[in-house]
Amino acid sequence: MAIYSHSRLASYEQCPLKYKFAYVDGIKRKKDHVESFMGSRFHEVMECLYAHVPDRAPGLGELLSLFNISWDKLWHDGVIIHNKERTAEDYRTIGLRAISDYYNRYAPFTSGRVLGLERELVVNLDQTGSHQLRCIIDRLMRCADGAFEIHDYKTSGSLPAQAKLDRDRQLALYEIAVRDAWPRVEKVELVWHYVVFDMEMRSRRTPAELSELSQQIIRLIDEIDSAREFPARESELCSWCDFQEICPLFAHLFQVKQLPLEQYAEEEGVGLVNHFASLEAEKHELNERIRKIEAEEERLKALAVARSDALGVRRLYGDTHLLTLKEDIKVIYPKKGELARAEFEKSMKDLGIWDSVLDVSWNLLKSMAEKKGWGVAGALPSELAQFIHVDKLRQVRLSKRKDLHEDVGD
Ligand code: SF4
Repeated sequence: MAIYSHSRLASYEQCPLKYKFAYVDGIKRKKDHVESFMGSRFHEVMECLYAHVPDRAPGLGELLSLFNISWDKLWHDGVIIHNKERTAEDYRTIGLRAISDYYNRYAPFTSGRVLGLERELVVNLDQTGSHQLRCIIDRLMRCADGAFEIHDYKTSGSLPAQAKLDRDRQLALYEIAVRDAWPRVEKVELVWHYVVFDMEMRSRRTPAELSELSQQIIRLIDEIDSAREFPARESELCSWCDFQEICPLFAHLFQVKQLPLEQYAEEEGVGLVNHFASLEAEKHELNERIRKIEAEEERLKALAVARSDALGVRRLYGDTHLLTLKEDIKVIYPKKGELARAEFEKSMKDLGIWDSVLDVSWNLLKSMAEKKGWGVAGALPSELAQFIHVDKLRQVRLSKRKDLHEDVGD
């Protein structure tokens, strides 16, 4: 039976396929991102510091030097820097400043007794033993009043809102493990050190919240244990995924990236996508052009109507085509489901119109309106006038000139 951890659970929630690569297939790939590289160096320094406090606490200079030595020894060209506006030295400087700020804030480090550094605890979430959770706590402290504190160092460049930490799952799970290991502990505080911001944030959990969280995690573990499908779930975190090269969503990108330029240009997949994209761009241009043409046609229609009226004619002739002006009407009446529909139907029945047809349709009303001249002011029966509105339409239609064909035979 697998032992779960917060990061294992989070991996499944983020992307089941990423989880499968790491925990089902056991594929070992670990990319170094500069943020996590800097975080690891910071954690090393904290571990060294608290391993010696309070009696032999190293000085700030020693800690900065330790950070630099470890940085230089472990840095390699494969460390990924996503933010192109920053260099490795920028991150080193951020780490050094975080150590100085931390040191100056907490020296001489006597606010409690260290119970464990990178302390591992394994907890059974229920009696079955099939829902085990492993927690590794950055620093576990016991305060003078007997309270326990779970400390976690965060080197991220964004500071969460307090409300987010009050819902944070990772340290709450650690609290479940701590209370399991030391059942008589009364008070446990969760403490985050957002060291880039020189900020300490705290939170507490109620017994009910911890119990609910336990149940949630048991359900999540059951879901993972019974999962048969592990679909890829793309998100903004994909850039940090260690498995991008073998993920079906990104594998082609990594394959073609490695090709020499001439092979890249001939790669079939690349060619297909490029061709598709150029057709889409062409389609977009054509649609834009059609939209402009249709707008121009509408303008010409309005001009044709005005010219026909001025000449007192119904047709305008061009070299090969003609424009015919047609008068029509549009009947607007309450549709099924509209509020006035029932009253409208009653009026139609009272006038004897409804009974003559199964249903009122637009065609029926239009032909009645034409026959009875409802478009003329006052012609529409007053019982219907409140429901029916008749609009006059003037349409312009383009057709080929037939008279030219007749000339051909002369
Ligand atoms: S790259 Fe994204 S979608 Fe693919 S496995 Fe990783 S997290 Fe999942």
